[in-house]
Amino acid sequence: MIDLHNHSLYSYDSKRKMEDIVIEGISKDLDILGFSDHLDFNKNDPGNMFYKGENQLEEFSFLKKKYSQKIKLFLGIESSYEKDYEDKIISSFKKFPFDYKIVSLHFVDGVVISDWIVNLEKDKKSIFEVDYEKYFIQLESIVDFKIFNILGHIDYYKKYSKFTNHRETFKRYQNYYERILRKVIKNGNILEINSSGLRHKCKEQFPSVEILKLYKDLGGEIVSTGSDSHKTGDIAFGFDRIQNIIKDFKFKVYKP
Ligand SMILES: [Zn+2]
Ligand SMILES: [Zn+2]
Repeated sequence: MIDLHNHSLYSYDSKRKMEDIVIEGISKDLDILGFSDHLDFNKNDPGNMFYKGENQLEEFSFLKKKYSQKIKLFLGIESSYEKDYEDKIISSFKKFPFDYKIVSLHFVDGVVISDWIVNLEKDKKSIFEVDYEKYFIQLESIVDFKIFNILGHIDYYKKYSKFTNHRETFKRYQNYYERILRKVIKNGNILEINSSGLRHKCKEQFPSVEILKLYKDLGGEIVSTGSDSHKTGDIAFGFDRIQNIIKDFKFKVYKP
């Protein structure tokens, strides 16, 4: 049981103390727990420049020692990726000794995805009328960035979509998925299975089974597992389901 995607009060959108997260992780029989707080540089992001790595590192070292007999702790990061902020991201990656780095797409065209999707779908009656291509173009730019371990929640746009038949979008953008996943595999990066989608309207983990099948068919062998927890009860959420999927596909699970 490994949960590498957890947000503490070092993220602008979580109020949780690191120690509370560790205690919940132990209560849920996690073997490994990782912190992945937000690293953001977009001026329109409420989390812009919020991350305080020095303070977190100190607290993390204390907790790692204190709970070493009960759980293995790692310090990771979830960086939002936009090409304009590449230098800032790289310099933060160098500044702190992160055990792993998740990179995720949270912005399209400089607009936070939740707003971007709502606006895009506003006047549309069916998913077939919506052009999601810009999402995939920016997703591909993350993969070309290469300097990270885990590609976070690849089909995250589902979270904010008013539509639910995302199988159609998968088919329509399968070329993008293929190219992106080929690059992930070739670069030695890892695809994340993020269970948070199960807590939202889309009622499905990120990524869908179709995408995972494609990853497997293209030679992908390793996935990372994360709940994207922000509050009490979220840790290892839906992991029974995730573990069954992993077993079915015979994936190995990434350890930092
Ligand atoms: Zn994210
Ligand atoms: Zn996250």
